[in-house]
Amino acid sequence: MAELSLQHLDKIYDNNVQAVFDFNMDVKDGELIVLVGPSGCGKSTTLRMVAGLEDISRGRLLLDGRDITQTPAKDRDMAMVFQNYALYGHMTIYENMAFSLTLRREDKNVIHKKVLAAAEILDLTSQLNKKPAQLSGGQRQRVAMGRSIVRNPKVFLFDEPLSNLDAKLRGATRREILLLHKRLGATMLYVTHDQTEALTLADRIVCMSMGHVQQVGTPLELYDTPNNIFVASFIGLPPMNFFDVTFEDGQLKGKGFTVELTDEQRDTLATYNRQEITLGVRPEDIVAGGSLPVLVSTNENLGMNTLVHGHMGTQQENKISAKLRGWANYKNGDTVAVQFTKMHFFDKKTTQAIRKEAK
Ligand code: ADP
Repeated sequence: MAELSLQHLDKIYDNNVQAVFDFNMDVKDGELIVLVGPSGCGKSTTLRMVAGLEDISRGRLLLDGRDITQTPAKDRDMAMVFQNYALYGHMTIYENMAFSLTLRREDKNVIHKKVLAAAEILDLTSQLNKKPAQLSGGQRQRVAMGRSIVRNPKVFLFDEPLSNLDAKLRGATRREILLLHKRLGATMLYVTHDQTEALTLADRIVCMSMGHVQQVGTPLELYDTPNNIFVASFIGLPPMNFFDVTFEDGQLKGKGFTVELTDEQRDTLATYNRQEITLGVRPEDIVAGGSLPVLVSTNENLGMNTLVHGHMGTQQENKISAKLRGWANYKNGDTVAVQFTKMHFFDKKTTQAIRKEAK
């Protein structure tokens, strides 16, 4: 069992920089939580507070109901996997994985069992007699994880573990972490700036900006119902398109285009009559055929889809990217008529999502 409770955590560094504001979350046993956000948003600081590598300025941290706010890192029963996994070059893979247990003078037979079990989980059994230099980057990353697994910690903490792997290896290692999580059933906190990693790995995502949590939810919740413009633009690739529009006469009027709405959408916007709002549309929620004109500037074939960049209407400021189904060969200057199959509405001033009020 390993349940974590992060209660109103603040981090103020010595130079008075507040890196984290009121971080509040309960992590369930066996959950894989991904903290995601741009560089400098406070995700590593949060992870390091959990690990005990940074003091917690305010708030409390509980592990299985026990207050560990002041507990030294080495007594927290957590293992951190860093992006810079330093393995001992002169030792075999077996010795690298056994190292921390050897230091603790555990029984040789116990160590042997634990190393073999970890190697089995990580598919490293046939590599145990090799030296790190004989392994690929991905295998070395797995050895680094193996060193954590043998300690059987309650919580695994990952700080951007894939960021120094090349794109292909990143995808493969990501899938291995997912398998590892399934096999171990362990509670994991994982930090990344990569929204793809967040969407593909997480049971729940915590999306952060400038030290503040913007939204906590499943990948689908953050993708489908983002709380605000920040989350909407950070999650999803290519990013969501945004337009300034006015809600008037039951329609959305932009510069050079008008969007028709359903009764339900009009209902959602009822309190915004004659006001300017921000309309958000994901590139993949745009389909060819409709009444909205897109003036094409570039056409990128991706195989299954075509990414069309251009402008709505003829206005230069209405930039749009559309991921249209199938292969297309639009030329610069062509106009393609599209429609939006799903729309997101945001309050222009607060940037918060406009949702239908519960009745
Ligand atoms: P992230 O992991 O999201 O990139 P960090 O948690 O590393 O962000 O940093 C959050 C903020 O705290 C940044 O503004 C960073 O400059 C600041 N910061 C990080 N570490 C320190 C430190 N040791 N002393 C002072 N400020 C720091």
